[in-house]
Amino acid sequence: MTINTNEISALIKAEIKNYKTQIVASDVGTIVSIGDGIAIIYGLDSAMLGELLLFPGDVYGMVQNLEPDNVGAVLLGDDYEIKEGDTVKRTGKVVEVPVGDGLIGRVVNAIGQPIDGLGPIKYSKTRPIERIAPGVMLRQPVNEPLLTGIKAIDSMIPIGKGQRELIIGDRQTGKTAIAIDAIINQKDKNVLCVYVAIGQKQSSVANIADRLRHEGAMEYTTIVSATASELAPLQMIAPFAGVSIAEEWMEKGKNVLIVYDDLSKHAVAYRTLSLLLKRAPGREAYPGDIFYLHSRLLERACRLSDENGGGSITALPIIETQAGDRSAYIPTNVISITDGQIFLMSSLFASGQRPAIDSGQSVSRVGGSAQIKAMRQVAGSLKIELANYRELQSFSQFGSDLDASTKRVLRHGEVLMEVLRQPQYTPFKLEQEIFELLIAKSRLLEDIPLTSIHTFLEEAYGTLTIQHPEYLASVMQNKKFVDDLEEKIVTFVKDLLATKTFTNDEAV
Ligand code: ATP
Ligand code: MG
Repeated sequence: MTINTNEISALIKAEIKNYKTQIVASDVGTIVSIGDGIAIIYGLDSAMLGELLLFPGDVYGMVQNLEPDNVGAVLLGDDYEIKEGDTVKRTGKVVEVPVGDGLIGRVVNAIGQPIDGLGPIKYSKTRPIERIAPGVMLRQPVNEPLLTGIKAIDSMIPIGKGQRELIIGDRQTGKTAIAIDAIINQKDKNVLCVYVAIGQKQSSVANIADRLRHEGAMEYTTIVSATASELAPLQMIAPFAGVSIAEEWMEKGKNVLIVYDDLSKHAVAYRTLSLLLKRAPGREAYPGDIFYLHSRLLERACRLSDENGGGSITALPIIETQAGDRSAYIPTNVISITDGQIFLMSSLFASGQRPAIDSGQSVSRVGGSAQIKAMRQVAGSLKIELANYRELQSFSQFGSDLDASTKRVLRHGEVLMEVLRQPQYTPFKLEQEIFELLIAKSRLLEDIPLTSIHTFLEEAYGTLTIQHPEYLASVMQNKKFVDDLEEKIVTFVKDLLATKTFTNDEAV
């Protein structure tokens, strides 16, 4: 077969005429410099802030800096195959994570890929990790309790659904323990949980996953993990990925508890990334928008109004302080963003008072209305009594000849501190918390040796629930003490106490 040369040129001309392409010059750029997980790219004139870019070797990056003549991007994967002069493509999408019920019980990385070896995640929907928080009109006040199962918190620093309560303290003071106990306590309470681990050791995250699985808490929990060995950008986006996963459930009308462990390391990751992008360092070398970073994250926790489904996100961010310094930059920022804080003191922790909650400095700014009346009835004076105790405690160290009333206050303080002690992984039921605080408030424990208080309370609670299950059932049903139930319970315990003898070697 012969082909006429005229035909060939006509064919080529027609091809050229009909040639169509999607490639626009501004959709492809060239890498000017690369290193430390940061790429400076020339030519992506119309790139958007936060847009996903495709680098050679299928590595993704995220646009962070829009300069007049170049674009700064952070890499979300290894950069060793990428070099100067390589081309980079725009994707037109922002960073997204898979969302939905397929994530329940899974451990994922900061971009929602599974890292628990349980196979791919089933999902039909993704969400951008950055989103503007719901506005005022879409919300309703926080007035439903979110119980942690920790006596000291549920009584004195109550947390409500949709609240943001900071957990703050030095290293190794039991911060993570409180958050994990709060997650364990959501079992059978119809609350989904998201635990975001930022900048922690892989072994700690593995331990937490194991513990949650062991307690049956992974049935309603998702772990998002960006460990210390991962790139700063991944640590930076992990909490945003976590809250996007939570938001999907909130919009479906569910209640979600999210823990950010911890935002100090998150701030450090963001500082690293900002300095590498050559942004101006501010106080403590953090970039100027670090407050905005944390506030736009925490503002996404809220309680939606009933017309919008009534779902909620309760956030428990964690901050680590250095030698108790709460006036450092990041702690003050996050304190001012959140609706209250739980202060943990290393001296209390070291003296064996665990959880080491400093009741004088801890507050919940919205939680009061989220407490049931019965709890307010038994715990109303707790904070003041403990404050009195602390004040007198410092005096009592000077001499032993104290008057009777001082001794009584001191003794009562000791008893309360003992009652508020609680081992890890043993969240209490609300009725048991109320029962124990009622007995302590009624001063029935003043003559029992401190070491016997827990055994006695446990026995008393056990006997009461067997002999008169209707007492506490009625309190829980009415949410307050009615028909002198308070007296009935106290009399019951008093009678039980009369049958006991304690080897009394320390009571006053
Ligand atoms: P880090 O600063 O390393 O993150 P952290 O403040 O999160 O520490 P945890 O890891 O929660 O502290 O707890 C420190 C140690 O104290 C752990 O070994 C934990 O088991 C123990 N611990 C925490 N809470 C209690 C408690 N209520 N009773 C007994 N031990 C506790
Ligand atoms: Mg911790």
